[in-house]
Amino acid sequence: MTTPKRLAPPNDPVRQCVGCRTRAPKRTLLRFVAVAQGGWEPDPRARRDGRGVYLCSPQCVERVKKNKRYKSLATAAVPSAAWPAH
Ligand SMILES: [Zn+2]
Repeated sequence: MTTPKRLAPPNDPVRQCVGCRTRAPKRTLLRFVAVAQGGWEPDPRARRDGRGVYLCSPQCVERVKKNKRYKSLATAAVPSAAWPAH
C-alpha cells in the first residue's frame, strides 16, 4: 500500500517488467532489445526493431540475471541516466 496508484491515460501503453512482473506505463520502463550478435542493449527511446523486454529499475536487471532466458542482460551497460524517472 505504499505505491500511489495513478490511472494511466488510455493512450499510455502498459508493459510488464520482466524482473519483478510489475505492470507499469511503458514510458516509466526501460526497454532492452535483443541484438543479432547476442546480448541485449538498452533502447531508451523504444524505437529499435527486434524483440524487446522492459525493466523498471537497475534492481530488476540484477533480478533477471538469474533468469537463463535473459542472462545476457547482465552484460548490457546501462547508464543510470537511461532509466526513466518514476
Ligand atoms: Zn521491475
